[in-house]
Amino acid sequence: MNLNIGWLYPDLMSTYGDRGNIITLNFRSQKRRIETKIHKISLLEPGESILQMDLLFMGGAQDKQQEIVNQDLQKNKGGYLEKAIFAGTPSLNVCGAYQFLGNYYLAADETRIKGLGIFDLYTKSPGLNFPRCIGNLIVESYILPGVKLVGFENHGGRTYVNDRNLIFAKVLKGFGNNGEDGQEGFIFKNAIGTYLHGPILPKNPELADWLIEKALERKYGKKIKLAKLDNYFENKAKETIIKRYT
Ligand code: GLN
Repeated sequence: MNLNIGWLYPDLMSTYGDRGNIITLNFRSQKRRIETKIHKISLLEPGESILQMDLLFMGGAQDKQQEIVNQDLQKNKGGYLEKAIFAGTPSLNVCGAYQFLGNYYLAADETRIKGLGIFDLYTKSPGLNFPRCIGNLIVESYILPGVKLVGFENHGGRTYVNDRNLIFAKVLKGFGNNGEDGQEGFIFKNAIGTYLHGPILPKNPELADWLIEKALERKYGKKIKLAKLDNYFENKAKETIIKRYT
């Protein structure tokens, strides 16, 4: 079996170690003899290639990079991304990328960045004089009941979701979407939006496997049960964080 993994804007959207997510997807696939090919899709690559991908990842960014990427999404790649997400392509979208998929993002300097409107939500920064949402974030995801996910968040934008049935996780510690309603992230079809950097996948192997499994099931049209891997170090890292912050 093999997987084509599309890494969107690796040169512009990859803060707080987000590239670790690609390393983890690669590592956990190859351990099971699933061949992977990583396709970097940035400003110069054609948008059509998004439709050839089995799994997509886009990381976070500062507001400035977000403006640059968003122009490309609006003009060239957004339509392909929308098509891929609606077709059920699994994808992980962290922080700035998550904000893009919503209706709009009002940045700290009040620049309004139009979103792709794929996720029914919006994000607003309260302005430069307000503190950012920074710190360790621990959540429990509705798609992985009983599993705690840990990571690190650093965002000025506060996200408000219209349909609560599409929330990705419940906040146990930290801010999450907006620091007010105890909600974190968004999930639509197999596309996840989350504020969890850290990066999220190395310390949360259950989520990495969820993405790999979904991608294989969609590609090969059958139920996939991934072989178990030894998660000793991954779990140790996660447990340490949970113990320290709860
Ligand atoms: N620039 C966005 C914000 O501050 C996203 C930050 C990020 O991706 N870490 O809200």
